[in-house]
Amino acid sequence: MDIAARPNDPDVEEMARSIYALFPRCMRCGEPIASYEDADVRILSHRVVHRGRCAAEEVAEGRGRL
Ligand SMILES: [Zn+2]
Repeated sequence: MDIAARPNDPDVEEMARSIYALFPRCMRCGEPIASYEDADVRILSHRVVHRGRCAAEEVAEGRGRL
């Protein structure tokens, strides 16, 4: 099943939260991410970055939305 096709699935949400719990530090700039709400979790690649600028840079590099 395509995880990206069901972004509002509670299981996906829970998975994203546990990935954030394991990696509370931005994999892009190296700074801690204050809260889950500030994190952009890419489930398929297990990458966690800041929402906003860091996430936009990920997309610019072709890492996509997940
Ligand atoms: Zn960052």
